[in-house]
Amino acid sequence: MASNLEAFEEARKYIAGGVNSPVRAFRAVGDTPLFFASGYGSKVTDIEGHEYIDYVGSWGPHILGHASEPVITAITRAARSSTSFGAPTVSETVLARLIVEALPGVDRVRLTNSGTEATMSALRLARGFTGRSLVVKFAGCYHGHVDSLLVAAGSGALTLGNPDSKGVSDAVAQETIVLPYNDVGAIEHAFQKYGDRIAATIIEPVAGNMGVIPPVRGYLESVAAITNEAGAVFIMDEVMTGFRVAWGGAQRLLEHKPDLTVLGKVIGGGMPLAAFGGRADIMAALAPDGPVYQAGTLSGNPVAVSAGIAALTQLRNNPGIYRRLEVLSARLEHGLRTGAARCGVPVYLARCGSMLTLFFQDGPVRNLADAKRSDTKRFALFHKIMREQGHYLPPSQFEAWFVSNAHTFKDIDATIDAAERAFAEL
Ligand SMILES: *Cc1c(COP(=O)(O)O)cnc(C)c1O
Repeated sequence: MASNLEAFEEARKYIAGGVNSPVRAFRAVGDTPLFFASGYGSKVTDIEGHEYIDYVGSWGPHILGHASEPVITAITRAARSSTSFGAPTVSETVLARLIVEALPGVDRVRLTNSGTEATMSALRLARGFTGRSLVVKFAGCYHGHVDSLLVAAGSGALTLGNPDSKGVSDAVAQETIVLPYNDVGAIEHAFQKYGDRIAATIIEPVAGNMGVIPPVRGYLESVAAITNEAGAVFIMDEVMTGFRVAWGGAQRLLEHKPDLTVLGKVIGGGMPLAAFGGRADIMAALAPDGPVYQAGTLSGNPVAVSAGIAALTQLRNNPGIYRRLEVLSARLEHGLRTGAARCGVPVYLARCGSMLTLFFQDGPVRNLADAKRSDTKRFALFHKIMREQGHYLPPSQFEAWFVSNAHTFKDIDATIDAAERAFAEL
């Protein structure tokens, strides 16, 4: 049996960087990746046979845990009736209806294969609908690897953006305005300056991609009001939060209805499936009804859709799942805080439902600049000690941990105990 390191060396011969998505490489914690063989419930097992309690959950989709029985049954049944037609199936409508009924801001939906594709399409739709080109995003929010969203703030507070990756052209970057999160003044100024050229504002309603950062009270409402006042489209990227923080997502939890919503992760039950949707009049601008082109050979794939239906049906029929996730996650939060305090390690823990981040700093953490003040070396050491004790955390300070309904109180308490031992060693 190959070791993780041998598997990585072999992978590097054939796969660029040895991984199919960069965060998997473990560079942020100064290490090399684990290769997984199996997962069941709250646990995953690597190819060396080590078992871990998993807080990554495939970066969010596994709210029911790995290999959840209803999901696996649905996938198997669907696959036996062909993996793809490239033509409509009734199950797509079933999934679409579940989404429309759950999300206040979604009248119509379109299914895609990845969150990246869905945000890209939502932006094109917003541009087509408004006839404008600029987009506002927030530093530290991630919306997939779409060119116009891989953009960093320009040098001045209100300048247009700079490419945040080689290969993104200056021309594309200059169509994006990047602002600090949780700062109403910044968005007011941006709209004063560029308001009549802005097609959309896109935001994570609870940020999860710079670590978890909830919006301050009234912030989303202000962003939406300023956006709509200027005739621009307000887009909530709920790829992470949708069906994660609540049935119906952050928009239901925070009681704010966006014009467009982007979904992914949980809605695919661990299969490649995402979606964007929103107001009927905006969605009507999509081809074939309207002039905005969007398509996909495998969009609405029947196997992925069957997994999504199974996962969402479980969540809809068992509202107790969200209550249980809250109790488990609150217990984890409390245990981590107490353990760190007892060992004199400064931490700031941010949580929304079953997504949380333990920042290695005093806080408060309200935006990317705050998040960056964390002690990433300390996090890397903590990550390693946790892994050695059988707890698999996201391999970066700036990511969310996810608790699933498959986690038990015993799992959570084991993680709290392990964390206290880790804090003592830091
Ligand atoms: C994960 C994520 C995406 C990108 O989704 P992919 O399926 O990885 O392309 C977009 N937005 C948010 C908020 C995400 O968390």
